[in-house]
Amino acid sequence: MSGLIPQHFIDDLITRADIAEVVGRRVQLKKAGKEFKGCCPFHDEKTPSFTVSPDKGFYHCFGCGAHGTAIGFLMEHDHMDFVDAVESLANSMGIEVPREEGQRPARSYDALFELVARAGRYFESQLKGNQAAIEYIKARGIDGGTAKRFGIGYAPAGWSNVLDKFGTSREAIDRLLAAGLIIRKDNGQHYDRFRDRIMFPIRDSRGRVIGFGGRVLADEEPKYLNSPETVLFHKGRELYGLYEARQALRSIERLVIVEGYMDVIGLARHGIDFVTATLGTATTDEHLNRVFRVCEEIVFCFDGDRAGRAAAWRALENALPQIRQGRQIRFVFLPDGQDPDSFVQEHGAGAFEEALNTALPLSDFLIEELSRQVDMNSVDGLARMAELARPLLSKIPAGVYKELLTERLAGVVGLPTEKLESIIRKDVARQPKHSSMPAARPKPRARGTGNPSIIRRAITLLLHQPGAGQSLDVEKLVGVSKPGADLLRDLIETVQAEPTITTAGLLERWRSHEDGRHLGTLAATELPESEEFDAGAELANCIAQLAVTARKDRIDFLIEKQTLKDLSELERSELRALSQGSAFSG
Ligand SMILES: [Zn+2]
Repeated sequence: MSGLIPQHFIDDLITRADIAEVVGRRVQLKKAGKEFKGCCPFHDEKTPSFTVSPDKGFYHCFGCGAHGTAIGFLMEHDHMDFVDAVESLANSMGIEVPREEGQRPARSYDALFELVARAGRYFESQLKGNQAAIEYIKARGIDGGTAKRFGIGYAPAGWSNVLDKFGTSREAIDRLLAAGLIIRKDNGQHYDRFRDRIMFPIRDSRGRVIGFGGRVLADEEPKYLNSPETVLFHKGRELYGLYEARQALRSIERLVIVEGYMDVIGLARHGIDFVTATLGTATTDEHLNRVFRVCEEIVFCFDGDRAGRAAAWRALENALPQIRQGRQIRFVFLPDGQDPDSFVQEHGAGAFEEALNTALPLSDFLIEELSRQVDMNSVDGLARMAELARPLLSKIPAGVYKELLTERLAGVVGLPTEKLESIIRKDVARQPKHSSMPAARPKPRARGTGNPSIIRRAITLLLHQPGAGQSLDVEKLVGVSKPGADLLRDLIETVQAEPTITTAGLLERWRSHEDGRHLGTLAATELPESEEFDAGAELANCIAQLAVTARKDRIDFLIEKQTLKDLSELERSELRALSQGSAFSG
């Protein structure tokens, strides 16, 4: 008998599903900034107004209003029913759909998380028994406390330690495969992925172990081995050490992004906790989004050699679309042959912090690198530099920063700023993928004033940043009776009950509700990208305003009853209390 599919599983499924991939298999999509665009499969059109947002996990058509999550897309496009769509999506991701049988909900992700956690504890326990591994860790300057904090372990030599310990059934073996802990051979046999390696557990933002990095003890290849991409672990999303940094520090003013686990750990060992590492990939948009949610300043730290500078340049290119006023992006290059770990061991924490303080601002690094590529003493060279700067500048969102940088570059190449600006604009016009960005979209407008109502505004904010609803006081909404108030309250309660729920998760929950249609439109509304914009603060402000209005309404109502001499004793004291309260708050 098939039971209900647990809501928790569905939330997780759409969070982890790659909607761009699901849609992209059926509709031709082109990348446009953070999103993808294509011609809408649900209505007839020549110019693409169909957008897919991998960040938010949903699609939206600005032409016909069609929208939804990956599950919704499969239902609409492939004409599947809900259960088939969930099954099909889960299958394509290699996950089994659990069913709630009676009172006991089965959660297949929980089993995977649990397995990976147990493997982590197993590796930790193995470290204690292996002298060579302990020696290695000591030689790298890692003390017991640091090893414990980062959960460092050891995967013993041999082909089947993990397999023998955890792979006792067919089901268990499948789970080990899904977690990337074992590898299947052509003949159907399996063996351990990590053998004779120091193990670094990689934790997600909630502290759950989702994968591992393993480093060899001797000089073998590959020196570093990561868990493969799994349902739990996506390299392009995760940052090593970010969870530990947030645990260690009350507030983080800046984050240093380094290249390896040993750099994170080596620096932490010297008391520099505000460090995180990408996992063998260049920094992605998603990485930067996560980092900028934590603090406004990031410092990329690279080796000073050619490879280091090339990697830094890639980081710069990826960071350009993230530039806003108030955010700082800087670059540190360590002396040749040194990585952050060896540098801090040799020169100490003070010297490293000093290096951070003299880090190159992104603009300086950009100009420095461009100058290296051309002959700065010739007119041709300067013209070439303007050419090179063009595609870079066009990636930066409009704003003060872009203006200042353009002005500076114009100064360097000896052109009037307006001239350089017009060159850049020409480039933008030539590349339709840039000009088709937000400005071309019809902005959804509220009826009447053009100023969305407070409730509508609050719901929009909550949909864009479900996390911003965490600390709201729902009680304040008691007595708010405007249209949409119940929906707002339900949404707040949902995000508070499910702290990890995403935009797509919320949309999916409300898909078959009458309100679902409005939510899709609000989720697709553009929020201001201004540097001062703080969704959490604005949301709290909306709620406060609603509370004030509700109290005023209640007072009016009671006063009216009073004039009709229809006030009960209870209402009379309520009115007294309310009136006193409002005297203080104005
Ligand atoms: Zn459409």
